[in-house]
Amino acid sequence: MKTAAVIVAAGRGRRAGGDIPKQYQMLADKPVLAHSVLAFARHVDIDAVVVVLHPDDAAIYGDLVAPHLAGLPVTTCEGGASRSDSVLNGLRALPGDTGAVLIHDGARPLVTAALISRVIAAVFKTGAAAPAMPVSDTIWRAEAGQVHSLIRRQGLFAAQTPQGFHLADILAAHQGASGPATDDVELALTAGLDVSIVSGSARNLKITMPGDLRRANTLMGGEMDIRTGNGFDVHAFEAGDHITLCGIKIPHDQGLAGHSDADVAMHALTDAIYGALAKGDIGQWFPPSEPRWKGAASEIFLRHAVALALDEDFTITHLDCTIICETPKIGPHSNAMRARLAGLIGINADRISIKATTSERLGFTGRGEGIAALATATLLKPGKIACTA
Ligand code: MG
Repeated sequence: MKTAAVIVAAGRGRRAGGDIPKQYQMLADKPVLAHSVLAFARHVDIDAVVVVLHPDDAAIYGDLVAPHLAGLPVTTCEGGASRSDSVLNGLRALPGDTGAVLIHDGARPLVTAALISRVIAAVFKTGAAAPAMPVSDTIWRAEAGQVHSLIRRQGLFAAQTPQGFHLADILAAHQGASGPATDDVELALTAGLDVSIVSGSARNLKITMPGDLRRANTLMGGEMDIRTGNGFDVHAFEAGDHITLCGIKIPHDQGLAGHSDADVAMHALTDAIYGALAKGDIGQWFPPSEPRWKGAASEIFLRHAVALALDEDFTITHLDCTIICETPKIGPHSNAMRARLAGLIGINADRISIKATTSERLGFTGRGEGIAALATATLLKPGKIACTA
């Protein structure tokens, strides 16, 4: 049985302020609606997504949202006069083999994969389920600005979406409805369905009022993008009187063979940074086939990788490199290497680790045929940029 999602985004959303409907306003790097749709379209248990649009919004959706959804199983349909009409249109636009459906407000962009999973699991267990948060504030009923009475909060829940159902059940509930409803749970109850509650999420807020975009942005700001990458390199010994490791010239009775200065440790570190960025490797950026890199100082490569990281707002927070060789001894030079790298990269030396090991005389390094190096880079992008509203 396939599971699908209907994302309702046909409202005008003018209460949130701004020149365009709230679902198209920017939240960090993409519109609110793109966040909402991606949460479902990328979910491992969701097979298809239908986004219900206002008839006037096809162009803005195509310009602002669709580019974020390339290759994902997302289609659109037109909404109706009320939210219920829009949901019904979305349900009718679902693939024919849909068994269960989650119906979600397009203006809840911070819905998590875990919450979606909880609702799906509960639908399969109980038939219908929706997330909610227990009400923690005291609730008053008021008249003319005066407290009229107090509503006991025991047993009160604030409803969220996605609300999940078997498609046949919620289709029948919509088709049998006598008028518009607040949400699909209301229609389900009217149709006699039992709806179980799963734990909602405090961050699953609905963008309704002007301050909500700012709150959502703040919540997203807590999300850091942390990356690690690895790098590995080998260079063979050849005749010579020194080697260069992490930019430090070390006297030795052999040199290292290579197209550039053969700085095997700096190459591994550079590839680790490229790896964290998912941006290729040294060989792609600086092809050995190009004569201009012959004998090049490897700091050119490292500086390039660091610049790519900075371009994407990443900070290099840590580098760890292990150099594998029988000779020369690395330990006496490791602090100089760390200081050299720190200067090149612009971070403190205490965030750079240079270690060395032999390979117990085993393999090519053990036979003294060359040096291998492996490295790990950790990159961090702090919270997202401020939103525009
Ligand atoms: Mg190399």
